[in-house]
Amino acid sequence: ITDKIAALPPGSNYFSLEFFPPKTSMGSANLRARLDRMSRALRPLFVTVTWGAGGSTAEKSLELAELCQRELGLTTCLHLTCTNMSKKLVDKALQDAKALGVRNILALRGDPPRSEEYKERINVNGNGIEGMEEEDEFEWAIDLVKYIRKMYGDYFCIGVAAYPEGHADEGHPEGQSLEHDLPYLVGKTQAGADFIMTQLFFDVEAYDKFEKRLREHESGAFKTIPIIPGMMPIQSYQMIKRTTKLSHARLPPNIISRLDEVKGDDEMVKKVGVDIVSEIVTHIQQEAAPGPRGFHFYTLNLEKAVSFILERTNLIPTEDLEDESAVLEISVPLQS
Ligand code: FAD
Repeated sequence: ITDKIAALPPGSNYFSLEFFPPKTSMGSANLRARLDRMSRALRPLFVTVTWGAGGSTAEKSLELAELCQRELGLTTCLHLTCTNMSKKLVDKALQDAKALGVRNILALRGDPPRSEEYKERINVNGNGIEGMEEEDEFEWAIDLVKYIRKMYGDYFCIGVAAYPEGHADEGHPEGQSLEHDLPYLVGKTQAGADFIMTQLFFDVEAYDKFEKRLREHESGAFKTIPIIPGMMPIQSYQMIKRTTKLSHARLPPNIISRLDEVKGDDEMVKKVGVDIVSEIVTHIQQEAAPGPRGFHFYTLNLEKAVSFILERTNLIPTEDLEDESAVLEISVPLQS
């Protein structure tokens, strides 16, 4: 991913699309057709495939990664969580990803189990999670970043997560705060992360502050690293209320009132939603960045809203740019 970003012309834009593995074979067939259509029409720089907590979707995530990477020829990034995952499961996922030709991993902690349940499981054998050796446990995303670097050197390009409005976790009762997260984000970057991808947000001022804070951070860890803001297309009124509540992303009052005005009309919600997200993208496009500007779209496996936003904000690359990245894919192995 970072090789492809580095090969883009200065000042240009790129985007990625996120997909999750469907539960049923009917869902998989539908997604396959959609992915094929979307990748041809929209030409993302790369796609990402989500990972279920504790490895719950391991097989299906790898199947989807195979479809994207091998069959559709898309540069693919596999999300991988590490909490509640034994080293054995992590190793298998990384080996399988490598065997499929996947070169990119988004290294995540995953959501921890509820603390009481967690404590009970720890108490089962007194020295670790039931069914896991103590040394098998990964606690934070940084443990996974270090592990991937130790085991695979530079084979994988590694991304890590960041939270423009701070990460909401029961571990810090003082509430979500970017300042709390920053030392750990520095740690993940210094441990070998190549790019940063953010949680969804609608508060563009909070995003501006976040990116400025990172770029100017005293450690110098974020001076040039690609920071890719996460965009959530608005598919319905209920969905955006639920998603922002779960992700602890603030919906600014002017956005709530624009959505409230049309909340009885699903088509209008989608239309206003396209306006809102396009305005956020356009705002960020105008801000200076040390390299090409990227955007990550949480598609929820849906096609229309993201396509309208990409068109509206001129993010769909021209054929020329696509050809340049094709040349890069061929020339990189020849050079190394
Ligand atoms: P970490 O970087 O480990 O941080 C977690 C929290 O702990 C933060 O509050 C941090 O400040 C704090 N912290 C970190 N290290 C320490 C330390 N040493 N001591 C004390 N506190 C510390 N989840 C999935 O299950 N599957 C997915 O596919 C998935 N994809 C995602 C994609 C993106 C772009 C993002 C932003 C999130 C995604 N998530 C996914 C959610 C993610 O797993 C959760 O948000 C999780 O709770 C935190 O993961 P992390 O990698 O940010 O953790």
